[in-house]
Amino acid sequence: MRCPCQSGESYEHCCAKFITSLGTAQQLYPPTAEALMRSRFSAFAVGGASYLLHTWHPSTRPACLELDPDQQWYLLEILGTSGGGLFDTQGVVSFRAHYRSAANRKLKDSLTETSSFVREERQWLYMEALELL
Ligand SMILES: [Zn+2]
Repeated sequence: MRCPCQSGESYEHCCAKFITSLGTAQQLYPPTAEALMRSRFSAFAVGGASYLLHTWHPSTRPACLELDPDQQWYLLEILGTSGGGLFDTQGVVSFRAHYRSAANRKLKDSLTETSSFVREERQWLYMEALELL
């Protein structure tokens, strides 16, 4: 299976490393804000709600998160990034995430957002949406 984040890698060698190691002693963290953004998109695509909550900053994290099973996230475009590198503690990623209805695949829409991220210790966390278009 190709990774939902469109990196061109297989899911196993891309975002699954981060999503499936969650909570284990060998937990791996995405090294950059963009990598975290990609893994969160993949978590949306595969129904990984707990990964989404664990990569959300505690100050903005919702108490619970229910993913809509009819919403199939199938395409991610990274529009731009600022900061968010290996040696940064803050980063911004602009992206467009496309989804379609599982019941009617012709019903498609997309979400364009600029998100801010912070790094605490080794872990990048999603903070908030800066701009909703
Ligand atoms: Zn990926």
